[in-house]
Amino acid sequence: MFKRILIANRGEIALRIVRCCREMGIESVVAFSTADRESLPVMEATDSICIGPAAASESYLNPEIIVQAAKQKHCDAIHPGYGFLSENADFADLCEENGIVFIGPSGAIIRHMGDKQAARKLMMEHQVPVVPGSKELLENADQAVAMAEQIGYPVMLKASAGGGGKGMRRAFNEEEVRSAFETAKAEARAAFGNDDMYMEKLIVDPHHIEFQILADCEGNTVYLGERDCSIQKNNQKLLEESPSAVLTPQLRKEMGETAVRAAKAAGYYSAGTVEFILDASGAYYFIEMNTRIQVEHPVTEEITGIDLIREQIRIALGMKLGFTQDEIGIEKHAIECRINALTPGTIQFVHFPSGYGVRIESHLFTGYQVSPYYDSMIAKVIVSGRTRLEAIRRLRRVLEEIVIDGIKTNYDFMYLLTYHPVFLKGNYTTGFWEQNHEQMEDWLKEGIRSEAG
Ligand code: ADP
Ligand code: ADP
Ligand code: MG
Repeated sequence: MFKRILIANRGEIALRIVRCCREMGIESVVAFSTADRESLPVMEATDSICIGPAAASESYLNPEIIVQAAKQKHCDAIHPGYGFLSENADFADLCEENGIVFIGPSGAIIRHMGDKQAARKLMMEHQVPVVPGSKELLENADQAVAMAEQIGYPVMLKASAGGGGKGMRRAFNEEEVRSAFETAKAEARAAFGNDDMYMEKLIVDPHHIEFQILADCEGNTVYLGERDCSIQKNNQKLLEESPSAVLTPQLRKEMGETAVRAAKAAGYYSAGTVEFILDASGAYYFIEMNTRIQVEHPVTEEITGIDLIREQIRIALGMKLGFTQDEIGIEKHAIECRINALTPGTIQFVHFPSGYGVRIESHLFTGYQVSPYYDSMIAKVIVSGRTRLEAIRRLRRVLEEIVIDGIKTNYDFMYLLTYHPVFLKGNYTTGFWEQNHEQMEDWLKEGIRSEAG
């Protein structure tokens, strides 16, 4: 067993990992920037250490300082959470070189899957369907145009190093391919220091369906059902649920087994996610693998009863999975709603509801200062029920009770979403936000809102 784990992250996910460590009898050390000195994970951890100023590039994104902090505090492992260094292969290698266990897959696996074009190639070699598109990187705009003509418009230009919805552009004609090639390349260079580009056919209005994977070091690999993450704004997820209303049991099994094949092709171990898009005809395509814990992991925990952070820690210790595919039963429905801050500021008052089937993951407290430096997500509301309708009604109840005073949030939009007929049907696509947000914002202006909000 590990004695001490350093947590190289902040906010709700740092708190989530601190709590898991405590339950497992492991000491936790939170590495924090000066902006996070007064934060719940720092207060709840066994110990903490300042790793630099607010700017993430000088603290949460600095591999050397974090490894030094882990050594100074005598930690035997590092949990990277999500975002920041969680998908940085060099960081995983650096941990290993310093005799510290990186809680996640090896640097080599992260490197291979983090290169999205290389991951596509690997999948094609293992009969995992990928979106029709380029087999090699695109050298220049002329090549991009030729490729677009070959696969047929519309197309999607994507950065091989991309993440968080960045470095991606749609194009409907030659002129758009030429301009998108330059702008996406520049965006990728600025965000990731790598501007390799590839191309996929643009699948119009697909569903984003991803499968949670767990694999141990002996190659035992299982899928823990899917998550439907089609409610997105600018390719960033806003709400996730499981099971998806658009999968039949047969398609779920087929996609789940494909996800396991994808993970095995990568030699994968730890928790990971295989992302697919599913089109209107029921065809599905691999888009990428995320080699880390995801923001929306609690949805899967609620329906399976499996603690994914605990499993990551057990796998990092070399322990075998304690269950097989057949032993994973899903009898519940769970929904996660992300509450984002639309402005920075001080929380004047916060009240989080509780009650049957409700789970809130958040680092907020009354008096907390929402910093402009980091991600705008301030809370995740997760509800579960026996049926989808029960979960939706519970989500409405929670959103009616919740109080977050002092800053603007996306609360109103999320509350209205729980009443939207397209959402209620459950067959929404990634086009939902674009097709509906203006009308929903008009409704909000007209005053159709909860009095409690
Ligand atoms: P998930 O599938 O877990 O929602 P996201 O792609 O939304 O994954 O990213 C999870 C977190 O990591 C978010 O907080 C997001 O802002 C951050 N993130 C993801 N990719 C990057 C990146 N390339 N650079 C900076 N932050 C990122
Ligand atoms: P990231 O690494 O930024 O998460 P992804 O490749 O996972 O990028 O894509 C993010 C989102 O963009 C998907 O959830 C989907 O909504 C959309 N998307 C990606 N590729 C395509 C495509 N070929 N056609 C249509 N939508 C796509
Ligand atoms: Mg993705």
